[in-house]
Formats: sequence, structure tokens, C-alpha cells
Amino acid sequence: MGVEVIVCGLGPAGRAVAHRALAAGRDVTVIDPHPDRVWTPTYAAWVDELPGWLDSGVVAAAVDRPSAWAAREHRIDRGYQVFDTASLQSSLTLHGATVIADRAVEVTTRSVRTAGGLTRTGQVVDARGLARSPRRAEQTAYGVVVARAELEPTLFMDWRLDNGADPDDPPSFLYAIPLSADTMLFEETCLAGRPALAPEVLRRRLEHRLAARGIALTGTEPVERVRFPVQGGRPGHGRFGAAGGLIHPATGYSVAAALAAADTVVAGDTVWTPRARAVAALRRAGLRALLALPPREVPVFFEAFFGLPAPLQRSYLSGLDDLRGTLAAMRVLFAALPPNLRRAVVTASVDAARR
Ligand SMILES: Cc1cc2nc3c(=O)[nH]c(=O)nc-3n(C[C@H](O)[C@H](O)[C@H](O)COP(=O)(O)OP(=O)(O)OC[C@H]3O[C@@H](n4cnc5c(N)ncnc54)[C@H](O)[C@@H]3O)c2cc1C
Repeated sequence: MGVEVIVCGLGPAGRAVAHRALAAGRDVTVIDPHPDRVWTPTYAAWVDELPGWLDSGVVAAAVDRPSAWAAREHRIDRGYQVFDTASLQSSLTLHGATVIADRAVEVTTRSVRTAGGLTRTGQVVDARGLARSPRRAEQTAYGVVVARAELEPTLFMDWRLDNGADPDDPPSFLYAIPLSADTMLFEETCLAGRPALAPEVLRRRLEHRLAARGIALTGTEPVERVRFPVQGGRPGHGRFGAAGGLIHPATGYSVAAALAAADTVVAGDTVWTPRARAVAALRRAGLRALLALPPREVPVFFEAFFGLPAPLQRSYLSGLDDLRGTLAAMRVLFAALPPNLRRAVVTASVDAARR
């Protein structure tokens, strides 16, 4: 059976590890103040990031080649998948685990003490997520779920300026994905900001944009509000998921990475090889440069990014320890930027490094 696995936090990361530890025949204890809390966010991922063991019934919608728009449309040669969140959560079964509804207050790699005074020892996985902080860049979004007789194209990112924003205002993009055969989620998203754009600003931009595209809203559509930190997780000390630095700062995604890495964690190995740490440092530098770019240059930057060959995009977005691919993507991207933007990226990176 091996040492007991003690998982603190039952978000996607913690639940994935607990589920895979049970599948491996390990004794598992899970600790979360709200272990039965139902997940509500709309999660999505690149199909090629997902582990083979994942139940195929967790898919709400799949798209072969989503689009991205900056100056022009790019079709991304990578399958994209929207999860049925409830199915994803329930597929990560916890049968056989000891469930403790409590807050972990002292966590080391070998022991956990809870607010209620319990102490457990074993292989500890700290998946307590990330707390909000003014020091951490956040992603915010405001979305509406719209019934459509014919689905609109899936847009991974659409930076076109038909959302009523001034080109010199902090930018936001449209994210548009199918949730079923006849519903779409349209979400105006601030990729990362410190502070990030307020929901009210994003709501106005979304309504402006959808009206400009002839998509009428009744005001009764279900709403999705997004706000979470994209900075601040750190590898080490048994931390995993957002707490362990798995959030990609350029997208805010971590769910697929956590699912894919769960078995490694159960085996007591680390995903944070020296190469992976170097990739994480490059990604953080990329975020700092992005945060410091003049707003009107952000879509220009993404025009160059989506012009990269799909394997390089994949390396940058998903290659957790693909140092060679990440460096190649950054090199080719830099070369593809117009000269003024190259200067802006260098200045932003130098300024950010000094801070
Ligand atoms: C609306 C929305 C849409 C999103 N869409 C996507 C997407 O499409 N793709 C994607 O990859 N990501 C998406 N994200 C981001 C994603 O939700 C997070 O990156 C992800 O939830 C991080 O997972 P986690 O398990 O590491 O942490 P969390 O999901 O934050 O889970 C942490 C868990 O720890 C528990 N906890 C906290 N403190 C303690 C404590 N002291 N003791 C015990 N337990 C504790 C909490 O109750 C919680 O259950 C989205 C986020 C939102 C809000």
C-alpha cells in the first residue's frame, strides 16, 4: 500500500491526485473545508495535454481547429475540449478515501495539522490553491451563456477591437466556446492584470462586442464571472496545482497540467525537473513582459504568437519541461515581432527584472 497520501485541497489538482492515488491502491485522506463543494467554472483544455486515463464522458464539446484572431484569423491545428465540469468532478471518484471537512493550518511534506486539531502523517500533497493578493496578477472575465440555433466559430482568443475599448485602454479579448450542441459561452477576458479589469468593464465590452456582431442578449442569460490569480504558485514542499506553480501565466490554465501530472505526484516524483523550472522562469518572464507592454501592442504581440507553427505554440503553451521548444518559440516569436515591439519587449523585460 505504501505511505498514506494526504491531499490538502479538493480543487481539480487535489482531486486528481487523490483519485489517481486511490486507483494505484494507496490509502488516501483528503482535507478540505468544503469537500462536497460543486465545481462551477467552465473548464477547457487542449486535447493533447490530457492523460489517457481520463474518462471520455467528461467532454461537453470538442473542437478540432479553434480560431484565434489578432490582426487576422489564425486556425490553430490543435484539438480543444470543453469539459462538462460536473462530470469531470464526479469522474475523479474518491471512493475509499477518508474525507476530513476541515482547514489544513500547518502543512509540511510529511504532516498536516487541521484547524480542528487533527494531525495526519504521510505523503502530503498541498493543493490548497492560491489566495488573492494585490501583488498577484489576476485573470478576470465576464461571460454569458447564449442559446444559438447555429453555433458561432470557437474563438480561443479574439483581440479585435470591436468591444468599444480605446486601443490605449488595458486590452481584453473575446473567448467563445460551445458548451453543448446549441449553447455557447461568450466571455470577455482580461488575460492578466495587476489590477485586472473589473467585471463591470468587461460586461460593457462584451455587450458592445456582441451587439456589433449581431448577437442579441435578453439580459436573462446565465452569467459566468472569472477571477483568479495567475501569479504566485511555487514548486516544492509537496505543493501541487495552482499552489505548486502549475498555472500557465500566459493563459491561466492549469487543470490539464494537473490531471496530466497527477500520476507523477502519486509516485512521489516531481514534475519540477531543472528543465521544468527553467521553463517556468521563462514563462514568468513572458508574463512580466506582457504586463508591461503598451496596451495597443498586445494584439500585435498575439498576431505574431498565433503566426508561429503549431508545434512551437504547443511547446510554449503546454510543454511543462520542454525547454528547447519554449526557447525556440520565444526566439521565433521575438524575430517575428515588428522592431518597435521588440524594443518594447526588451524594455519591459529589463524594467520588470529591475523591480
Ligand atoms: C470561471 C473560471 C474558469 C476557468 N477556466 C479554466 C479553464 O478553462 N482551464 C483551466 O485550466 N483553468 C481554468 N480556470 C482556472 C482554474 O480554475 C484554476 O487554475 C484551478 O482551479 C486551480 O486548481 P487547484 O486545484 O490547484 O486549486 P483550486 O481550484 O483553487 O482548489 C483549491 C482547493 O483547496 C481548498 N482549500 C483552500 N484552503 C484550504 C485549507 N487551508 N485546507 C484545506 N483545503 C483548502 C479549497 O476549498 C479548494 O477546494 C478557471 C477559473 C475560473 C474561476
